[in-house]
Amino acid sequence: MKHYDTIIVGAGLAGLQCARLLGRQGLSVLLVDRKTSLDTSIHTTGIFVRRTLEDFDIPADCLGPVVRDVTLYAPSRRSMDLTSEQDEFRIGRMGRLYARYLDHCLRAGVEWMPGTRYAEHSRLKDKLVVRLDGSQFSRWVSTRYLVGADGANSRVARDLNLDLNREWIVGVEDVLTNIPLDGPPRLHCFLDPKIAPGYLAWVAHDGEETHIGVGGYPALFDPLRALNLFKSRLGSIIDLSQARDVERRGGRIPVGGVLRNIASTSGLVIGDAAGAVSPLTAGGLDPCMRLSTFAAKVIAEYLDGGQANVLKAYSGELFRARFASRLWMRRLISGVRQPVLVELACAGMRLPVANWFAWHVFFGRGSFPDVDLHWTPQTAS
Ligand SMILES: Cc1cc2nc3c(=O)[nH]c(=O)nc-3n(C[C@H](O)[C@H](O)[C@H](O)COP(=O)(O)OP(=O)(O)OC[C@H]3O[C@@H](n4cnc5c(N)ncnc54)[C@H](O)[C@@H]3O)c2cc1C
Repeated sequence: MKHYDTIIVGAGLAGLQCARLLGRQGLSVLLVDRKTSLDTSIHTTGIFVRRTLEDFDIPADCLGPVVRDVTLYAPSRRSMDLTSEQDEFRIGRMGRLYARYLDHCLRAGVEWMPGTRYAEHSRLKDKLVVRLDGSQFSRWVSTRYLVGADGANSRVARDLNLDLNREWIVGVEDVLTNIPLDGPPRLHCFLDPKIAPGYLAWVAHDGEETHIGVGGYPALFDPLRALNLFKSRLGSIIDLSQARDVERRGGRIPVGGVLRNIASTSGLVIGDAAGAVSPLTAGGLDPCMRLSTFAAKVIAEYLDGGQANVLKAYSGELFRARFASRLWMRRLISGVRQPVLVELACAGMRLPVANWFAWHVFFGRGSFPDVDLHWTPQTAS
């Protein structure tokens, strides 16, 4: 039976980031994903915020043009423009980015098994025995440590007896090209509880790609109907007459905040599996990068003879405390279901304090609590 220091389940952004960092530290890493190819079934719009672009090495050719302009719409379509002097957002070319990070993993010695599903594991003395299933095979491998990067509905978290996500919104979007850009690249955000209850609808247009989507609480709307309705009403904002469909994307977004119990002596979870998504903006890419980077440090230290105490630093409880205000705002937003109240809130955004708030939400540097990227085990106790 082949043995690895770490097995990482899931090659989304979280799994890829963790795998390439652990590989570079000389650990033997197996990365598996049930997908046969990483450029299929992408479920994210891929908007990276400035903070991520500044702090991490996202290759420029895996990103679209810079976006500095946001337009916020009330249900009546009254709008308010926000313009930043800085390069705030870039839409990732996610298939290309995943392929690039996978290449980094392979160069760092990570073993890659596509089309391979994590099925179960059990403990055998000081190691874990893991069953992996492909379409034609079942294989047993062993590891010292298991990492769940398997998304919002994590089987690894369940099997490790870690906390599970319980609050979601769902998002669905169409990716299109050949839509003329009127003005600079722009993110259009629509607050409208009828088509996006508890979240928002969006048009992200960087001049090359256009993403049109809706998100909201699954019990309160039918996402595909809402998306079609939303698209049918966009005529005065973008010209869809020559648009070419590229793909449809969608999925669950955990918005209950980072989970409390996300690590044990057998394994830990990262990314959506850890609930690492901003409850307010539903942005998960920055949290993916930060938490996975931190997890790689903690794992390397733990496997290098560290005591269980090293894992204490990787506690959702610590991150969660810094999520408190965003969790409160999520509760507030989920309770506002009448368009008239949203309309009033939007009108209020013209007031200086509320305008500052909108500015802060879109252009602030606070999508995920700062994980101490310079953490060392000596500071963990
Ligand atoms: C419609 C939509 C739009 C979004 N837009 C944005 C945005 O613009 N900006 C932003 O910051 N965030 C956005 N998010 C959130 C963000 O995309 C996620 O937080 C992030 O992609 C999560 O990455 P991950 O690696 O944790 O999980 P995932 O990307 O879900 O990766 C999990 C991987 O695990 C694999 N897997 C699952 N189970 C198994 C198994 N049993 N065995 C093997 N493999 C398995 C899956 O195939 C998948 O490849 C969006 C989310 C949605 C749904």
